[in-house]
Amino acid sequence: MSKPKVLVFDIERVPMRTKPLEAWSMKDLQYRRLRPEDIDSWGRTICLAYQWLGERKVHFIAEWQEGGRAAFLQNAHDMLSQADLVVGHNSTSFDVPHLQGEFALEGLGEPEPFKQFDTLLTARKKFNFEANHLDTLTRRFGLRHKTDKYSSKVAFAAVDGDEKAQKRIQRYNEGDVRATTALYLYLRPWGSFNLGTFVDGADETPICPICTSTKLEKRGVRSSSLGRYQQYFCTHCRKWSKGKRLLSPTVEVR
Ligand SMILES: [Zn+2]
Repeated sequence: MSKPKVLVFDIERVPMRTKPLEAWSMKDLQYRRLRPEDIDSWGRTICLAYQWLGERKVHFIAEWQEGGRAAFLQNAHDMLSQADLVVGHNSTSFDVPHLQGEFALEGLGEPEPFKQFDTLLTARKKFNFEANHLDTLTRRFGLRHKTDKYSSKVAFAAVDGDEKAQKRIQRYNEGDVRATTALYLYLRPWGSFNLGTFVDGADETPICPICTSTKLEKRGVRSSSLGRYQQYFCTHCRKWSKGKRLLSPTVEVR
């Protein structure tokens, strides 16, 4: 049976920088409106770490590696294109659109379509926690958590060629991916995506829509306005799901 490709990833960026600003007093700066001409360099994604679910290795690509920025963005484009499901913490409104903007600037076009699972959005939607940071959630769930904090100083040093800073941001980036993978595995039964559509033969054998396991237990029935369906519980990831076929259609009353 073919397995869907689940990608967990996280990007690191440098912020934009302004040109030196002229001012006669501190007050001049306080009310100053910045125009695009005042920007010296725009913010950009400088590196990313990723892991294919089921593999141990965490990969790392950066603009300071061989081929420079063009190769980095092409590799990121290929990575997303290969994925069936893309997972990240705040990835739907941060990581994915940032990369897409950079693909557009580079003239790369859209990557092949993929589904998304955002661990931040899922936690926000399903739980009423006070905080939903990656570090907070992984600690509260007793999972592997991150080890370092982002620093723009380290990020700028890394793009300027400081090898120690490059190693540090790589370690930090990879640590975030490992934490996100742990959080994904913990949160996925709360998700509503269907990986079954990526598996050949899933029409005949009932499989879990979240983890594609066939270790499903028949547990009760699910009713809808159309009728009753077999309900399943996945003993692997603990997701509830329902069969595709109607057990008994609702008799229409006129
Ligand atoms: Zn499952």
